[in-house]
Amino acid sequence: ISKIGVLTSGGDAPGMNPCIRAVVRTALYNGLEVVGIKQGYKGMIENDMYPMQARSVSNILNLGGTILKTARCLPFRTDEGQEAAYQNIKAQGIDGLVVIGGDGTFTGALRFSQKYPDIAVIGIPGTIDNDLYGSTYTLGFDTATNTVIEAIDKIRDTADSHDRLFFVEVMGRDSGAIALRAGISCGAEAILLPEKSTAIDELIRHLKAGESKKKSSSIVIVAEGDKSGGIYDLAKAVQKEVTNYDIKVAVLGHLQRGGAPSSFDRVLGSRMGYAAVNALIAGESQKMVGLEANHIKLTPLSEALSHHDFKLEADLLQMVEVLSI
Ligand code: ATP
Repeated sequence: ISKIGVLTSGGDAPGMNPCIRAVVRTALYNGLEVVGIKQGYKGMIENDMYPMQARSVSNILNLGGTILKTARCLPFRTDEGQEAAYQNIKAQGIDGLVVIGGDGTFTGALRFSQKYPDIAVIGIPGTIDNDLYGSTYTLGFDTATNTVIEAIDKIRDTADSHDRLFFVEVMGRDSGAIALRAGISCGAEAILLPEKSTAIDELIRHLKAGESKKKSSSIVIVAEGDKSGGIYDLAKAVQKEVTNYDIKVAVLGHLQRGGAPSSFDRVLGSRMGYAAVNALIAGESQKMVGLEANHIKLTPLSEALSHHDFKLEADLLQMVEVLSI
């Protein structure tokens, strides 16, 4: 390996910048050249790349988002798009790629490097959803969860002052990881997750029990991907039955992606970036860097992508009801 290209792709996640910094500096430290590729695979196809030095990544540890920008790139799904990307990568003299993103990013990377095995590829799990096999934590999940907690703590203040019940929607189309952690951290009454169906009558019973126990406020967290039919209809249906509370809905939206990365995500990003470059130097390819039992581990991309059975922690799920009595 002599020249590494680094890109961020798919949804942005806090912690991507510390990771880019670690990739750039670890590569330079080892005498390699580094090229920053803008907007994920779009920059590969459109030849939007620039050489990076140690100073290119100064003062970015504390920045949310990604200095390389990110994009969803349809042409990379086609053979023509991949060929154009390959020609540009070859012309730049890049022989190793570090791709930071989610499962879509890894699918594209694996296909690319199977077609063009002279380009080694290492993936880094950068997504707030924490839904990738091969790593207990993904980059951005901790910061996003902390952002959600901060917002819900504020909602709790107003909920408590007015005897209100808040339904709060948090990100997670397919994964309830943020909802579950935030729910435990904020003392939610109930947490509705894509992975688990919740009967509305059961939820109403639980909330009515809270009413009779004179709870002055209640928070119900609903992950985006919950299948109860949408947070507004759910709130309306519950309001008909749970009458002592004034029910309000808060959708947190994109603020969950922003903000300075937490200490955890800065360290995780640095660790993963460092490990990815060392893996390329060691001759590895088509693998994902992950953190398991507090150790860095490499998992073949094909294996990471074939496991869709990522499970939420059973003890956390069980605890929700017990701790909300
Ligand atoms: P997030 O989890 O935040 O959504 P992601 O990496 O899964 O991140 P996607 O939009 O699914 O985000 O994928 C990112 C990019 O990867 C796509 O825009 C596309 O360029 C590329 N990609 C995804 N699937 C494929 C595929 N089957 N073949 C080639 N490229 C793909």
